[in-house]
Amino acid sequence: MNDILPEVSGTWRYLESLVQEIVESYGYSEIRLPLMEHTELFKRSIGEVTDIVEKEMYTFLDRNGESLTLRPEATAGMVRAGMTNGLFHNQKQKLWTSGPMFRYERPQQGRYRQFYQFDVEAVGYPGPDVDAELIIMSARMWRRLSITNIGLQINSLGSPAVRGNYRNALVKYFSGVKNQLDEDSIRRLEQNPLRILDSKNPDMQAIVEAAPVMLDYLDEDSAAHFDGLKALLDAAGVKYTVNPRLVRGLDYYSQTVFEWVTDALGAQGAVCSGGRYDGLVEKLGGRATPAIGWAMGIERLVALFEASGGVAPASCVDVYIAALGDGPLERAFSLAENLRDSIAGIRIEMNLGGGSLKSQMKRADKSGAEIALILGEQELADGSVGLKAMRSTEEQESVAIDQLAETLKKKLR
Ligand code: ATP
Ligand code: MG
Repeated sequence: MNDILPEVSGTWRYLESLVQEIVESYGYSEIRLPLMEHTELFKRSIGEVTDIVEKEMYTFLDRNGESLTLRPEATAGMVRAGMTNGLFHNQKQKLWTSGPMFRYERPQQGRYRQFYQFDVEAVGYPGPDVDAELIIMSARMWRRLSITNIGLQINSLGSPAVRGNYRNALVKYFSGVKNQLDEDSIRRLEQNPLRILDSKNPDMQAIVEAAPVMLDYLDEDSAAHFDGLKALLDAAGVKYTVNPRLVRGLDYYSQTVFEWVTDALGAQGAVCSGGRYDGLVEKLGGRATPAIGWAMGIERLVALFEASGGVAPASCVDVYIAALGDGPLERAFSLAENLRDSIAGIRIEMNLGGGSLKSQMKRADKSGAEIALILGEQELADGSVGLKAMRSTEEQESVAIDQLAETLKKKLR
């Protein structure tokens, strides 16, 4: 679990607000959700035989003996919230949320135990138009951030009905090579053979590569859905690779799944992943409701942005106010308040803790401020303020206090 320090928090905030702005521009609205839910919710939605539920959840009993879990992902909580608040009743929803997720994983570069996700969900839309929209929206983020080192992989998991046939084919195949399966996969063979395809064990890769692929088992409707998505992506100029091995690690997915992958971040290449989960609302006790969403890891977005040479706009103060003496300090405070009132968004740092003119100007320089304002007894007496442009060689000038706001507006552009 990481501390996000001031030297990087500016980049985080820049990226988070940019992503918010983009999804809002497609008509998605924010929903804020609890950080924990009943453990049962995650078991039922993500699935018992998955990495997350088997070994990654932070689960504990509260004082009332109820089992709660820190959310490992956002979709389950989003669906729970939609159901308890009646948001899906004869309505469609386009929602986004963001915040920390918790998984007890082996920590390494790009993989943490508390990490942040930006999450988007569209509920009530059968697609494939909305599938395409969600992907086109994510493609806009990369364009906007000049991130080019990223590629889209898509696949279809078909409908739950045809998944049965595919499952049988998988069980048959994996049973034939059972002596080569690892322990996890042998257990999954009985309970959830699709999960074997998601194995991260390098020794299993050859066996997984040779397994039957879902795309060969798609029924007509699922194939039409997948073709529809591809046609819309083609028309929008979004490039993709069909990866028939892409299964995603959670149980609730069906039909479309996709992942934006980069090779700029070493082993942790999945930056933004998503898929359709048409069965989930019903599984959790609601009416059958189509839905799809994606989640993006903010740490990985920040790392990819930096690896692509991205730099967030600097966020230092505009003005530093130096005050020499008690009278000037009192005046400086009211001056600062007035400037904050009259210049929207201006960032002003007051010199705190006194000090000589020299030491205050040193702090002004360190603050990164464009301009320092200097108030001494003389300025107090004649109703002016000293103005020094910190990033140029211009001489200090004297500005009448009633001209100050206008002068600053011009100088700060
Ligand atoms: P991976 O294959 O890397 O384990 P995942 O399939 O478990 O990813 P999802 O559950 O789909 O990931 O989560 C969506 C996104 O959240 C991922 O694409 C990734 O960017 C990010 N993410 C997932 N787990 C972590 C983690 N432990 N630390 C940082 N980011 C993560
Ligand atoms: Mg994972």
